[in-house]
Amino acid sequence: MTKILDAYSRKIDYLRISVTDRCNLRCVYCMPPEGIDLAKAQNILRYEEILRIANIACANGVTRIRITGGEPLVRKGIVEFIASLAATPGLEDLSLTTNGVLLKEYAWDLKAAGLRRVNVSLDTMSRERFKKITRGDNLKQVVEGIEEAQKAGLTPVKINAVAIKGFNDDEILDFARLSMSHPYHVRFIEYMPFDTTEGWQREKCISAKELKEMIERGVGPLEPVASGPDGGGPAKRFRFKDAPGEVGFISPVSEHFCGSCNRLRLTSDGKLRLCLFSDTEIDIRAPLRDGSPDEAIRDILFRAAFEKPEKHFINENFFKKCSRTMSLIGG
Ligand code: SAM
Ligand code: SF4
Repeated sequence: MTKILDAYSRKIDYLRISVTDRCNLRCVYCMPPEGIDLAKAQNILRYEEILRIANIACANGVTRIRITGGEPLVRKGIVEFIASLAATPGLEDLSLTTNGVLLKEYAWDLKAAGLRRVNVSLDTMSRERFKKITRGDNLKQVVEGIEEAQKAGLTPVKINAVAIKGFNDDEILDFARLSMSHPYHVRFIEYMPFDTTEGWQREKCISAKELKEMIERGVGPLEPVASGPDGGGPAKRFRFKDAPGEVGFISPVSEHFCGSCNRLRLTSDGKLRLCLFSDTEIDIRAPLRDGSPDEAIRDILFRAAFEKPEKHFINENFFKKCSRTMSLIGG
């Protein structure tokens, strides 16, 4: 099998696919209150187009796919799509990132369709604060969604919390303690610079190092966990002694992991995004729709990989915040 390699010999075996730019929440760090300008329906990739790209990618070395958005569970037909995607030859790991609002309803069907696991985004356990962060009143549904995903076996259930100074830093220890009472993998993500209404400021970002120190001081020592076969992705993984769950840190801002970057992103409007923090994108929608053969689509994947930047520049003075929000890029 051919393998997708980039110009720095990094093997590209992971594809993150955004299936929609729509969302049922409006997180302050991701979207303005009125939402964003959505793509016209005809510009969103159809499921069969995404399946074609996935098949070509998996025939060329991609083994892991994550479905994301926007909110992937708001797109009609998502379960049937997951079932078709799960049957892709060569695909070893299929996961999904969700805000959890609709997860209780979908968990068992997603599992039956072949989804292996979910990441649920949750930044607070307070109802009032949840309303402030997401501009929605859905905390109860999200918590029930997490519990249902665990019961359905979409495991390990990962809970992703964006740590923001002055916003939810007083809940960091409670989140970490969740991994002692539940088998969840709680992962703290550094607040990243996207062009959103609330505006990103470096001072609001809490580094993974600070977070770990805070947790060890307030809860107890963390032991490193070796990455399993599905890897931890870019997360540095730890566990409290005898805890059923884990605590992880993802540090794109304070300590980049570009040297081991193995991914390409496909946006819902059919662009291959080479790096989360670079606005360079390569169109794959037009070739899909103009009758191009599979070899031409494969070559676009190769080109996208080859043009991946060596690293991001968010810590340099010249860095400009990305013009597309996470909901459009497919976080
Ligand atoms: N709607 C789904 C969700 O929220 O899980 C999937 C898409 S969302 C864009 C993916 C992830 O991006 C979420 O975990 C969210 O917290 C994260 N995210 C969005 N904007 C971010 C930012 N400025 N910094 C860090 N993480 C961000
Ligand atoms: Fe929606 Fe996810 Fe963005 Fe929140 S982070 S607005 S849930 S896409």
